Amino acid sequence: MADAACLFCRIVAGEISATVVHETERTLAFRDIGPKAPVHVLVIPKEHHENVGALAAGDPGLAAEVLRVAAEVAVAEGVDKSGYRVLFNTGPDSGQEVLHVHAHVLGGRPLGALVGG
Ligand code: AMP
Repeated sequence: MADAACLFCRIVAGEISATVVHETERTLAFRDIGPKAPVHVLVIPKEHHENVGALAAGDPGLAAEVLRVAAEVAVAEGVDKSGYRVLFNTGPDSGQEVLHVHAHVLGGRPLGALVGG
């Protein structure tokens, strides 16, 4: 169910603009507004789920679709051969800012250590 206070639900609803790079009936992929790498795309389910665990438990098929779309975005962005990272922040220690599950697809340069200081 859409959450009117949720930033990414508002992007899905078209109330906030985003640079959309891929869309399916149940997912949306758009460029991160503060890119951390030359390629930085967020893939979300259009339905509101707070984090990847909630999505996987509540709708495993949709979780699989988010992962499939992340791989398709990597191909479309030209980083599937050079390599890329798919990352889901979950909860306070991860720094998750937006409580609507999103896969970060990052690439376009060597990404370095998995976990920063
Ligand atoms: P996280 O810290 O995993 O919750 O990531 C949230 C991401 O959303 C950050 O990388 C932000 O730069 C990004 N973000 C926030 N607002 C927007 C927006 N309006 N359009 C696109 N990306 C956004």
